[in-house]
Amino acid sequence: VTERRRDPLTGEWRMFAGHRQDRTFLPPTEYCPLCPTRPGGLETEIPLERFDIVVFENRFPSLVRQPPPPEIAGSPLYPVAPSVGANEVVVYSDDHNLGMAEMDVQHVARLVAVWSERYAELGGRDDVAYVFIFENRGVAVGVTLHHPHGQIYAYPEIPPLPRLELATASAHLADHGTCVVCDVVARERADGIRLVASNRSFLAFVPFAARFPYEVHIAPQRHAASLLDLTEPERLALAELLRAVTAGYDRLFGFPLPYVMSMHQAPTDDGQHQAVSHLHLEFTPVHRSADRLKYLAGSELGAGAFINDTAPEATALRLRDAVSASVVG
Ligand SMILES: [Zn+2]
Ligand SMILES: [Zn+2]
Ligand SMILES: [Zn+2]
Repeated sequence: VTERRRDPLTGEWRMFAGHRQDRTFLPPTEYCPLCPTRPGGLETEIPLERFDIVVFENRFPSLVRQPPPPEIAGSPLYPVAPSVGANEVVVYSDDHNLGMAEMDVQHVARLVAVWSERYAELGGRDDVAYVFIFENRGVAVGVTLHHPHGQIYAYPEIPPLPRLELATASAHLADHGTCVVCDVVARERADGIRLVASNRSFLAFVPFAARFPYEVHIAPQRHAASLLDLTEPERLALAELLRAVTAGYDRLFGFPLPYVMSMHQAPTDDGQHQAVSHLHLEFTPVHRSADRLKYLAGSELGAGAFINDTAPEATALRLRDAVSASVVG
């Protein structure tokens, strides 16, 4: 099966990709498919001896440029559609152990530049409505390959969470005449109690109504709808905060904290989204303490209502300490 089906109860589209069952699961380090191909060594996904940042199409994609027609016949109640779009893998470097926290800031800035290029390129396609850049890190969030890398999904429509955020932002704009994220950023800067790190252009903070105990959002202090709106110095400022936040996460409990990083920015369909899209990155680590995970259970999975047993102001303080302790130079 490679097709999309729409859930008649929620109206959400779901992706079906049967061949993904066969994908590589946690290969030993010597067989890492994201490491360089050494002379006389095993051929990896990347036929190069050295590389900086590499982007390639996922070998086990859920969305492709030229999808087969759906296997099942659709109907008005059960719409089906081809899995059109793209799945790309972004390998951060040729070093198996170099995550964002360990890279120099120029390297992270080059990663931001690559993300911008892919956003522009994929978003420029007529059949792509939303470009979603993300990173899954750690076995706790289901990662099958440890080599630092992220992914990019190009969806044929705006997915549920960004759609909900855009609707909320539109209502806020109608009521107050302002961008809700601009208002949030101003409030966090004024309050200070949920700040984790900041610089001249960006803020990192634990959101006021965080879903996860150590959730952190990073947003530009001025309105920028997507990565494409950032200037060169602003990209560097984002790179600095990405480095600071991930280093703080690694220091928090003394091990690389598993997380999902999600980037929300303007959709790339024909709609007018500039005023209601404000670029931000959401880090959602699943740990609630060094040895306990937050599991999604009844209220979260069955009702979509998150329960957080930690005050965001308290976790922000701990994260702020971890970030400032890990800053070198
Ligand atoms: Zn590797
Ligand atoms: Zn804004
Ligand atoms: Zn968001």
